[in-house]
Amino acid sequence: MSAHEPAPLHVVVVGSGPAGFYAAAALLGADQPACRVDVLERLPTPWGLVRSGVAPDHPKIKSVADTFAQIAAHERFRWYGNVDLGRDVTRAQLVAAYDAVVFAVGSQTDRQLGVAGEELPGSVAATDVVGWYNGHPDFPDLALSLRSPRAVVVGNGNVALDVARMLCTDVRELDRTDIADHALEALRDSAVREVLVLGRRGPAQATWTTLELRELGDLDGVDVVVEPEGVLGVADDGLSPVVRRNVAALRGLADRPPSGGSRRLVFRFLRSPVRLRGDAHVEQVELACNDLVADADGRPRAHDTGGREVVDAGLVVRAVGYLGVPVEGLPFDPLSGHIPHEQGRVTGHDREYVVGWIKRGPSGVIGTNKKDARQTVERLLADVGPGGPRDCGPDRPDRLEAWLRERQPRLVTDSGWQAIDAVERGAGARQGRPRVKLVRTRALLDAADPRDR
Ligand code: NAP
Repeated sequence: MSAHEPAPLHVVVVGSGPAGFYAAAALLGADQPACRVDVLERLPTPWGLVRSGVAPDHPKIKSVADTFAQIAAHERFRWYGNVDLGRDVTRAQLVAAYDAVVFAVGSQTDRQLGVAGEELPGSVAATDVVGWYNGHPDFPDLALSLRSPRAVVVGNGNVALDVARMLCTDVRELDRTDIADHALEALRDSAVREVLVLGRRGPAQATWTTLELRELGDLDGVDVVVEPEGVLGVADDGLSPVVRRNVAALRGLADRPPSGGSRRLVFRFLRSPVRLRGDAHVEQVELACNDLVADADGRPRAHDTGGREVVDAGLVVRAVGYLGVPVEGLPFDPLSGHIPHEQGRVTGHDREYVVGWIKRGPSGVIGTNKKDARQTVERLLADVGPGGPRDCGPDRPDRLEAWLRERQPRLVTDSGWQAIDAVERGAGARQGRPRVKLVRTRALLDAADPRDR
């Protein structure tokens, strides 16, 4: 840096999923003022839901990680893993140390159904199941109950489809993927022969996407059934093009002649679980039969008709949405699970910003975060204004790294992550898979820096 060049703005991004990476890219693309970006991550690995959310049989979607690797190669970008906000560094410390803080912490928990029996073993959140099959270090010990012939998945979004597909797919397809080894073994022994996907409303109200529906037709040995049959008779008039395509895709699946395959994926609409029954484990699900009634805004709502049905099931997965958790000291909207903001700047907080799901709630696809991050970064740069950042001296980046290392001696740097990546890819190459994931924090930290072992 020449004596006349202003010091770069030094921004910290908390969270290294797609929203965090796209925020970093937008910051690094700014030239007035130039930015340095440090990205902090709770896990020893980057990429958030691209590593631990996207289903293992969706490698094309995961290839966005190549874009993140390019961003990470920028000379003003640094990534630090194994840094937990709250445990290792506080929000207030980050605000004091950096010119601005961008929270890209996502939606870290799940919504509940709020029905009796939900706490029984055998009833789990899709967020946990997704973390389990993707090798997230919080979930290797999840004991997914796969002993009964029927599993129920509640919800009509893409996560419900991912989980249903993973429970139905022939393991011979999965053992070429980066699925966690513990999940592969459990699914190999699975007794599940039918996965029942429940929608509280109709097929026209589902939030899944057409591509994800259509690919169910490619599952070997799986027959797709839609109940009640009449539900696909919905008139096409007035439906949006997206919904029309979804309904057509579902009809296409339902119209296929049975293959005689060993597994069934059954869609059941206008049904809500009202009670999970069982002594020490889920054995049955009691369902309310719904019809659709328009609310004051004309939106079709599920209305309980009073009718009841009971189905046997040993596993119930609720895929009814992710939910954000508060960041200590920042405002929070508990209903929607997001941090209130104005164009990305946290309401009432200078120099603190949000991107991704903690900004707008758990919606949209990976690419949605690009535009979302751009909006926040534009706000941030406009707030800094022509005066530019504080001049903290040329050794500021080194001091920040030393400061982080003081708080977390087992800091994982980008080279630590490269070491993990090489171990996982090497193990994958020997088995004809993209990678074999290390699923325990300890193993990940050891791979990042074998000298620390
Ligand atoms: P989502 O799309 O919001 O779906 C949630 C589903 O849960 C809706 O069908 C909702 O029905 C239902 N639901 C909510 N509360 C319920 C209750 N109490 N009882 C019964 N059903 C209830 O969320 P998601 O599936 O978790 O996905 C999150 C985001 O990630 C979405 O934007 C999704 O597209 C994205 N994603 C994308 C992919 C992909 O591109 N392949 C894969 C996974 C996730 P109502 O409509 O009636 O509320």
